[in-house]
Amino acid sequence: MEIIIGWLYPKLMSTYGDRGNVITLQRRSQWREYDVTVLPLDQNSTPQDIRSVDIIVGGGAQDRQQEIVMRDLQGAKADAIKDKIEQGTPGVFTCGSPQLLGHYYEPALGKRIQGLGILDLVSVHPGETSKRCIGNLVIEVTASRLARELQAMTGIKPYLVGFENHGGRTKLGTVEPLGRVVYGLGNNGEDGTEGAFYQNAIATYSHGPLLPKNPFVADWLIVTALKLKYQQEFELSPLDDTLALQGRESMFNRLKLTSSLMING
Ligand code: GLN
Repeated sequence: MEIIIGWLYPKLMSTYGDRGNVITLQRRSQWREYDVTVLPLDQNSTPQDIRSVDIIVGGGAQDRQQEIVMRDLQGAKADAIKDKIEQGTPGVFTCGSPQLLGHYYEPALGKRIQGLGILDLVSVHPGETSKRCIGNLVIEVTASRLARELQAMTGIKPYLVGFENHGGRTKLGTVEPLGRVVYGLGNNGEDGTEGAFYQNAIATYSHGPLLPKNPFVADWLIVTALKLKYQQEFELSPLDDTLALQGRESMFNRLKLTSSLMING
């Protein structure tokens, strides 16, 4: 069985180590003996390439790169991404990527960048002199179906550990937030929300990268992709995540958030 990971604009949208999300999905699938293809989705890709993938990964980008990407992501290519997300293709979209999946992003300098309008959210950078949102980020996943499915996998409430670094502030419309901020700033530093969850798309400000720090989310993406593709139930064999769990524990300790509830294991 094969999983095709579509990686949005690897050269333009890979700030802060977000390629770690691709590597994590690739390795965790291969360790379970699934064949994996990583397909870059960029200026050279066709809408058919986009339609062929089983998981979509989109990383962060700087304002200028976001503009270049949005100039390319028009017409049939934009439709293909919309259709994939609407059809439930799982994905993880970090920082600049969710800004592009929303209605628009207003950069610090220059004109508003129109987004794909898939997520009901808008993002605005309040200007070059305003403070960036930088630092460790811990959230509790509150998106109801995702929280339930992650809890069923791990046996405990899902908390995600990451690192945020963004100038843009995001305001959600009707889309469900991914979670509530436990530590850090999240979508806008005001309303306590972080990210968004729509169909099976996880949108977050959390770099880290996210998946190596929260491997159960990678497994959720893999299982969701397999179920959708092969229309049957899948159970992934367990992996030794001792190092990742120790990393989480030490971050919770450092941020003085230690609670047995927050340590997956
Ligand atoms: N350019 C966006 C911002 O500053 C996204 C940054 C990022 O992806 N890290 O908000």
